[in-house]
Amino acid sequence: MRVCVIGTGYVGLVTGACLAYVGHDVVCVDNNEEKVKLMRSGQSPIHEPGLPKIISESIRQGKIEFTTDIAAGVNHGEVLFIAVGTPSLPDGRSDMRYVEAVARSIGESLTEGYRVIVNKSTVPIGSGDWVRMIVLDGMAGKKNIDQIQFDVVSNPEFLREGVAVYDTFNPDRIVVGSGSDRALQLMQELYQPIIDRSFAEDKTLPPVPVVVTDLNSAEMIKYAANAFLATKISFVNEIANICDRVGADVKEVAKGIGLDSRIGSKFLQAGIGWGGSCFGKDVSALIYTAEDYGYSTEILKACVRVNELQRTLVVEKLQQALKILKGKTIGLLGMTFKPDTDDMRDAPSLTLIDQLSRLGARVKAYDPLVSQSGLRQGFSNVIVETDLERLADGCDAVVLVTDWQEFLTIDYAKMLTLMAHPVIIDARNFLDGKALEALGYKYIGIGR
Ligand code: NAD
Repeated sequence: MRVCVIGTGYVGLVTGACLAYVGHDVVCVDNNEEKVKLMRSGQSPIHEPGLPKIISESIRQGKIEFTTDIAAGVNHGEVLFIAVGTPSLPDGRSDMRYVEAVARSIGESLTEGYRVIVNKSTVPIGSGDWVRMIVLDGMAGKKNIDQIQFDVVSNPEFLREGVAVYDTFNPDRIVVGSGSDRALQLMQELYQPIIDRSFAEDKTLPPVPVVVTDLNSAEMIKYAANAFLATKISFVNEIANICDRVGADVKEVAKGIGLDSRIGSKFLQAGIGWGGSCFGKDVSALIYTAEDYGYSTEILKACVRVNELQRTLVVEKLQQALKILKGKTIGLLGMTFKPDTDDMRDAPSLTLIDQLSRLGARVKAYDPLVSQSGLRQGFSNVIVETDLERLADGCDAVVLVTDWQEFLTIDYAKMLTLMAHPVIIDARNFLDGKALEALGYKYIGIGR
């Protein structure tokens, strides 16, 4: 099938590249010329394991093209994905200006025939009808308006950064919302190779479940999924804080409750709280949507509040261990919001850097990706070191902020010899506390 993906960020580029890889003819559109140049040369502008291979293979097969020309993309595609960002506005609502601009351009660019316009961006409930309206606005004045037909479909994305290619080929489910059988039929056809698990790691699994529903429910599914996951993390963080006070170990507690099939073990890791580009903005957008309809979401507000407090917990633990932080040097292990991504949006490390520097501490950081890339220049209030020895040198405490695998194999004995004080705060409960204590560290976890 002929596909156009507009917006080539973490979602759009992975979606476009994977659809090309399974055999569709894809045109990816972005208004960032630098990105388009890079992608044309077979490189990925984002760090996502496996993505460069998928892009270069699809280019080699002639299955994918990149352009800044949205009209060319719209002309090409039978299915048009909108995959631009929907960040939070300062008041917490979704900033829909990128979706609006794209929907209007689609309307202006549509030529005769039938198209399916797919909202892949996470958009507030009701946006499907709103996108339809903007596309129609864009079409106003066209002479051949009777020959243009389209339907809007909601197809929310559930990929996880860091394993986005894997998730696209091995999804837990595919959700499509629309009132049009014709559009739903095309979406089924589009995803058939993925539904059949032709590119999955385990090809013997039954087909991927497809949830076919109405537009509003599909949009709600995305928000409800992220709100639930964020709440699960805030819940276990609250349990961790009680564990800290009563002398229980939250890792044991999480294991004990996670084995209950009604609860499940995923997203039960206590730590510094959730971050990233999605949870904060999506929970906040859901809170505001509910308010628009006269409902106050008490659980979701508490989920956000617990997360805010959790980010300050590390500072409290540092104060307990070191007392005055003014003039102290704190080293951060990891900066990205999670491992295997270069995404720094709403990363807990940024809150920590702000809080610590406000309290007069000198903050240094090492991150496997940020330290080695151009990104390292872009931060204030933190010295981004290029290696672990420079990070450890003179530190009064080190805080593990991101659970990168390579932090499990650091030479912690050597690190200790470089530090001014042997304090390590494990803000992800990721390290072997007993082994570190045996080396002479004062090890402090979360809820342990
Ligand atoms: P992103 O910021 O990484 O990418 C957006 C891309 O759109 C950028 O490359 C930008 O240049 C491009 N763009 C903006 N305006 C444009 C225009 N007018 N024409 C062409 N291109 C334009 O965003 P993302 O992280 O990929 O997220 C996209 C959407 O998917 C958001 O709504 C997000 O909530 C949702 N989502 C994200 C994730 C994730 O893990 N990142 C997961 C699921 C859903």
